[in-house]
Amino acid sequence: MTELTCIVCPIGCRLRVTRELDGLKVTGNECRRGEEYAKDEVTAPKRIVTAVVKVDEGERMLPVKTAQAIPKEIIFLAMEEIKEIIVAPPVTSGQVIKENLAGTGVALVATKHCK
Ligand code: SF4
Repeated sequence: MTELTCIVCPIGCRLRVTRELDGLKVTGNECRRGEEYAKDEVTAPKRIVTAVVKVDEGERMLPVKTAQAIPKEIIFLAMEEIKEIIVAPPVTSGQVIKENLAGTGVALVATKHCK
């Protein structure tokens, strides 16, 4: 059995995941999102990545995040790619900064406007 705290919403349900003959069984969740989170966490954990990228020559920084969660084992590679990015303003919130970050198929997007 694996015990987890659901991080999908602030309630933070305590989840228990057990392997049964017909697959994984999740208990302790208040909603379906918690069940999905627990199964992913046990089989293929993923995270939304938040970071900053340089604007112009690095005088300013722009906050960014992945548009969807990416596999945890790819996060280091993704951060290496993010460190090399320099954007030129103007940038609008939600604008794609980099497609297919670290080969994940997930875009990196701005989370703030920048003039
Ligand atoms: S199981 Fe549902 S209600 Fe509970 S913390 Fe996760 S998302 Fe929130």
